[in-house]
Amino acid sequence: MLNLSHIKSIAAKVGFDLCGVTRCQKFDSDMTFLEHWLAEGYGEGLAYLERNTDKRANASLLVEGAKSIVVCAVSYKNSFSCGYPASARNKIASYALTTDYHITIKRMLQSLCAELKESCPTLSGRCFTDSAPIFEKRYAVEAGLGWIGRQSLLVTPQFGTFVLLGVAVLTEECDSYDTPYIGIGCGECHRCIDACPNGAIHNHHIDTRQCISRATVEKQSDCTTPLHGWIFGCDECQSCCPYNTKTPLATNPLFAPTIDPLTIDWQKMSEAEYTLHFATSPLIRTTLQRIKENIKLTTFSAD
Ligand code: SF4
Ligand code: SF4
Repeated sequence: MLNLSHIKSIAAKVGFDLCGVTRCQKFDSDMTFLEHWLAEGYGEGLAYLERNTDKRANASLLVEGAKSIVVCAVSYKNSFSCGYPASARNKIASYALTTDYHITIKRMLQSLCAELKESCPTLSGRCFTDSAPIFEKRYAVEAGLGWIGRQSLLVTPQFGTFVLLGVAVLTEECDSYDTPYIGIGCGECHRCIDACPNGAIHNHHIDTRQCISRATVEKQSDCTTPLHGWIFGCDECQSCCPYNTKTPLATNPLFAPTIDPLTIDWQKMSEAEYTLHFATSPLIRTTLQRIKENIKLTTFSAD
């Protein structure tokens, strides 16, 4: 049997800002929503979203005997998260200025689980950070961390949307569970919808075909999506969020920016230098050639 307070104290010790625990459960309505969303073509070309939809909605298909889901979040808000100067080009989403969260958060989750196992030797499970088909944000809501905003990101009252999530799917029951988030949520606000330069936000879901983040990171060729100065990711629908303007900058040094995107001369860089400099950065998901192509494609809404 796991202990809720113990889990939360270890999560804080390994560097997470938020932690909640919920029962393993099935989210049929979310699966139905995803299927309709895919059928409408909003995720066209993102084949990985079409695979394993049953697992996304039911973590016990990922971990046999799963009982408890620990959802952890860490703030990564840095000075670039607040928005770039209006004239800035070559903008990079602020999460990508730090060490790759797939590496950092996975280690933090592994430390958490290793310590839990010391007091509960029968414990087993798996840790995920954007690395498996699982409705992370839905579990985060059920674990009381926040709500899903109109731009489809998790919004936390304490740290806004600039948080990265890690999930541990565990085989033991917990002595108690958090309750789902209840609050005013977005209320009447629709700033993120208004702020999206490509009109990609449709009130709690995204048309990824219009999304700069997808166009700069996922899509491999034939990009016709206006990029508005972004060359990797896009923060426009987060920088504008009133919950982000009130939140503090991240304090965990693992999530401090390691580069200043406005000072990098991409044209002078070689692929070898790129690979060396960005080996542990989210930017390694793409190539220097792709970054250079995005720079060429970059346009401003005022152009
Ligand atoms: S990431 Fe950028 S382009 Fe995509 S929905 Fe948000 S504001 Fe729009
Ligand atoms: S900008 Fe407004 S509508 Fe969008 S997520 Fe934030 S609070 Fe919700």
